Amino acid sequence: MQADKAKFAAHFESNTNPQLMDKQVISCLIIGSGPAGYTAAIYASRAGLNPVLYTGPEPGGQLMITNDVENFPGYPDGIMGPQMMEDLRKQSERFGADIRSGMVTSVDFSSSPLKVTVDEEKTFEAATIIISTGASAKWLGIESESRLNGKGVSACAVCDGFFFRGQDVIIVGAGDTACEEATYLSKLCRKVTMLVRRGEMRASTIMQNRVLSTANIEVLWNTETLEILGEDGVEGARVKNIKTGEEQTIVATGFFVAIGHQPNTRIFNGVIDMDENGYILTDKVSTRTNVAGVFACGDAQDHIYRQAITAAGTGCMAALDAERYLASIEH
Ligand code: NDP
Repeated sequence: MQADKAKFAAHFESNTNPQLMDKQVISCLIIGSGPAGYTAAIYASRAGLNPVLYTGPEPGGQLMITNDVENFPGYPDGIMGPQMMEDLRKQSERFGADIRSGMVTSVDFSSSPLKVTVDEEKTFEAATIIISTGASAKWLGIESESRLNGKGVSACAVCDGFFFRGQDVIIVGAGDTACEEATYLSKLCRKVTMLVRRGEMRASTIMQNRVLSTANIEVLWNTETLEILGEDGVEGARVKNIKTGEEQTIVATGFFVAIGHQPNTRIFNGVIDMDENGYILTDKVSTRTNVAGVFACGDAQDHIYRQAITAAGTGCMAALDAERYLASIEH
């Protein structure tokens, strides 16, 4: 798709489509409101791009369900996840970012300007789009897991493992993430019990071997979680061996779920190039997607690092890439 200035100019003059709520082409439309989206909004607004940001269904993203964030540089005493997101929102608004509630429900990137529909009713046009829709951790889906979320139940060992130093924890999962996080936790915690639902792991051999050779990690095979125990905090879990039917209680103060993440990219299916797991593909060391004028940052395109600081870093990159792209089509 080729975007050019003449096309935009013609569009301004001839646009009579009543479906289009905002006849002016938005120069930079940001989809999603985690650290990536807000950082993109800060940079884009300071660059004079007048960005519009749609927050999506979970304003603030995954950090809204995190308590203390202690690894984001610049906060020697740590900061609460929701507070950090509030600060990032205010910081972007200070420079004029237009933060709007609403969920982008479909996109049409087949021609320029690019089109997005919000809440299935309002359609807007944009010269550039920054996708920062993030990813969501997958959960087991049991009642005790949601009740104790943030009270010992976590989907991020790197974020929350530190709070369980010297204690016993449980981790569920058998992929590379679970192995990596179990190894990480084993260095902080007294004992890590890893619950694997089958008789084998999905993780790469090297990651499995690392887990299996770590003295303070115990793997329970063919094991599923029946219930996470505790009222105001995790006290353990009741688990069952699927093969033998035998149940047991494991005492632990932390319960980590590492069964994968789902990037929030469904609306871009068939429009933007993605890998087999739905993560958006970007061009080399940039945030450029396969569609001109569309950039992706944060967890929607990163299944490796997945940290607030790396999401913010790529949000910055996306705004700079969008700015350069706009300059290139204007000259
Ligand atoms: P995966 O999808 O690879 O693995 C998810 C694991 O969770 C599987 O073992 C699965 O079990 C298990 N699981 C799923 N649902 C449940 C459930 N309800 N109860 C119990 N267990 C469940 O996700 P990952 O996040 O581990 O990895 C995603 C991608 O990122 C992979 O491609 C991985 O290789 C990559 N990655 C690479 C790393 C590296 O190279 N350093 C580090 C981390 C990730 P089952 O096997 O039975 O289906």
